[in-house]
Amino acid sequence: MVALRERFGTLSLLELGANENPYGPSPSVVPAILSSLESLHRYPDPRGAALKQALAIHHRVDVDQILLGNGSHELLMQFSQAFAGPDTDVVAAQFGFAVYTLACQAVGANLRIAAAYPPGHLMPRGHDLDEIARSVTAATRLVYLANPNNPTGTWFERDLLERFLQGLPSTALVVVDEAYAEYVTTETSLSAVPLLARYPNLIVTGTFSKCYGLATLRVGYALADPAVVSVMERLRESFNVNSLGLAAATVALADQAHVVMVRERNAMQRTRLAEEIRQRGYPVHPSQANFLLVEFGSRAAAIECALCEHGVVPRPVAGYGLPDCLRITVGTSDQNGRLIGLLDDLTERPNLGPV
Ligand SMILES: *Cc1c(COP(=O)(O)O)cnc(C)c1O
Repeated sequence: MVALRERFGTLSLLELGANENPYGPSPSVVPAILSSLESLHRYPDPRGAALKQALAIHHRVDVDQILLGNGSHELLMQFSQAFAGPDTDVVAAQFGFAVYTLACQAVGANLRIAAAYPPGHLMPRGHDLDEIARSVTAATRLVYLANPNNPTGTWFERDLLERFLQGLPSTALVVVDEAYAEYVTTETSLSAVPLLARYPNLIVTGTFSKCYGLATLRVGYALADPAVVSVMERLRESFNVNSLGLAAATVALADQAHVVMVRERNAMQRTRLAEEIRQRGYPVHPSQANFLLVEFGSRAAAIECALCEHGVVPRPVAGYGLPDCLRITVGTSDQNGRLIGLLDDLTERPNLGPV
């Protein structure tokens, strides 16, 4: 990626591989960061009190239900450190976010992968909560779900999650990773946050890296039962979230008009881009996130190479067991136009690779 940036320069390189927000953060973020530059020599607030207070109000939870992390990635890894280990099971879904597998492997736990919905299903390759429930054993300490999921973009309704939680032994904690929750435009909210009050084994994670546009500052959070939070608080590094991140996230959270603007623009571009790609003969998975999982068949790797040659960088997902697909971040109207133009050029070159 660094080599591509040098070759194309940041202006002409179009990075569609990391699900970053092309509209950037709230305009209130830069002034907040500039004023916190005066205290670079000081440690950040180890409790992140102002941000926790703002998150408590935003999500209608108590402050002692909130954990802050150096990105939600840090918290996802630490849950398994705190609650799993050798001789325990961790359950995740096929095509689930890669960090869950790493979190399990890092502590030597036994990973159980539940088969996803098959191609042809209404939610192809999405989490099958019945399969996941069947994978849970008496030794299961953690279940990792993503809603919507990365890299598939698929989602599940809150009712299904609640039924799943009801059938689960209380010895299993369930992490619902809502990194893309702000992008969801379904008729009813998918978020698991309202279930926290009734299910003490539920953990919901969120991040400022995606819709809030602050990926570089590394601020994520988890909402959970105070007992879970207090175990994690003892495990974490004291100053895991830096003061620029704390200041930026606090003002970004306050600017919900910006979040609505990003969500609406993304939803409009997501629909248009999916339609344009489908018209060119490539199936697109349903998505409630800011990216699309596209099936390019046996040409996926050749198309990826050709796009990169022209400075457009999608995300290969062969590592997820999806060698026929590429994951593409939904960009601005202009960015998506550039991608579609390139796809048209490539389609006119049928000798690009095996069809
Ligand atoms: C991007 C992403 C995250 C987290 O990112 P952080 O920057 O570490 O907060 C978490 N889960 C999923 C599914 C993601 O795609």
